[in-house]
Amino acid sequence: MHCKYCGHALPLKGIVCPNCGKTISKEELQEQKQNELKEWDYYSNQNTAKYKSEQHNENYRKAYLFIILAICIFILIAVLKMLV
Ligand SMILES: [Zn+2]
Repeated sequence: MHCKYCGHALPLKGIVCPNCGKTISKEELQEQKQNELKEWDYYSNQNTAKYKSEQHNENYRKAYLFIILAICIFILIAVLKMLV
């Protein structure tokens, strides 16, 4: 977390900014923590959505490969029958 006056990174339990010397109240500390948690939620949700769509693409590609494979086998059988 960071000082809201100068943006300097604060030690976890620090309530006095080591850079500008301003005192950060407990309420402000908690507010900042909640904002950081919200940000974290936002990013982790985005990552999950991205992961899900990648998973979807992967399934789609597998189905596509399977269809191509089936067509190849079908053509192979047709060619074999013509030769016999
Ligand atoms: Zn500061």
